Amino acid sequence: MICPDCKTVELVEKRETIRFEECGLSGVVLQDVLVRQCDGCGNRLVSIPNLSGLHRSIAMVLVNKPERLAPEEIRFLRKSLGWSKADFARKMHVRPEQVSRWESEKAPKPMQVQNELLLRTLVAKGQKIEDYEEHLEEIASKEPCGKFLLSLFFERQQWHNRVAVCQG
Ligand SMILES: [Zn+2]
Repeated sequence: MICPDCKTVELVEKRETIRFEECGLSGVVLQDVLVRQCDGCGNRLVSIPNLSGLHRSIAMVLVNKPERLAPEEIRFLRKSLGWSKADFARKMHVRPEQVSRWESEKAPKPMQVQNELLLRTLVAKGQKIEDYEEHLEEIASKEPCGKFLLSLFFERQQWHNRVAVCQG
């Protein structure tokens, strides 16, 4: 495959572990992703298979996360439902400014436990989750944690997660 930018150099294919910051979460990495690189102009084409499945996998990890959700995770789950901030506010019976504060990185205001559990439930709806109810009990008693790191790999046409660590 010739580089679509400089149109002179043949792209070199390799497998890399990449950060998936496009999803809006800072701690997500994808393992062994196909990257086509141009040694001429430095162009890089990253191909991520089954993007919707990947988003779903990440969402389900967050739904089952044993700690409270971070602002960027709340935003990710809200978007996974296809909701604007206004939609979200309406569903949660809060004012739109409240949603902005939940999702704020700089001055976050913790989401009320009931709202967080409702958000998780709405995302989970339609998919069977074992021991979900048990998780809810645990989650409600936890404090927000620091950095959440998640590593995913693609195998047998599906995204699987390998590591999900909460770093304080
Ligand atoms: Zn090029």
